[in-house]
Amino acid sequence: MPPSSSADSSTAIVPSPNSTRCVKSDVIPAPYPWATTKRAHVRNLNDLLSSGIRTITGTVECDIYNHKQDLEFDLQREFKQVASFIAANKSSIMLRRTPEAWLYPPRTCWVCCRGESYVRPIISSKKRSINWLFLLLGEMIGHCTFDQLKYFCKHTNITPLTGGRDRLTCLAYLGLCKQLDPSGPFDP
Ligand SMILES: [Zn+2]
Repeated sequence: MPPSSSADSSTAIVPSPNSTRCVKSDVIPAPYPWATTKRAHVRNLNDLLSSGIRTITGTVECDIYNHKQDLEFDLQREFKQVASFIAANKSSIMLRRTPEAWLYPPRTCWVCCRGESYVRPIISSKKRSINWLFLLLGEMIGHCTFDQLKYFCKHTNITPLTGGRDRLTCLAYLGLCKQLDPSGPFDP
């Protein structure tokens, strides 16, 4: 993998043996028990379940009152839900239409009893520490910035990196599902 030119302040810098130039390390400490040591990669479903990892956690924040809440997702149940959503929307996804629910993911804050506010995930400003599996299971990838999506696609060899934020959101959903279930029907 060529050294990256993007400015990611979280990056581990390792000295290159042949020059004074620094290159980014491909291997990072796994940021979560369900992530791997490769940037933007998660462990596959069988591997996770056989290690006893069944619950994926992350933090969200309410958009009006700033309540912070930790959420837990049941890995198998939520993944099944995402996979059936993809199956149901396969034809429009193939036509490069990104489902609306992925772009503007609504999730009402349940601390606010009036249901007037929504939660959004707290996404790490260090790109290598983004909790991708949590975002996938909560169907909250639509909260990522264009830059964060580009980072995902770049490090998971998703090409071409053309198309706007909508397209990259869609590719990130499919790419993460493919990581969880490499034999599943998740090719774009
Ligand atoms: Zn709230």
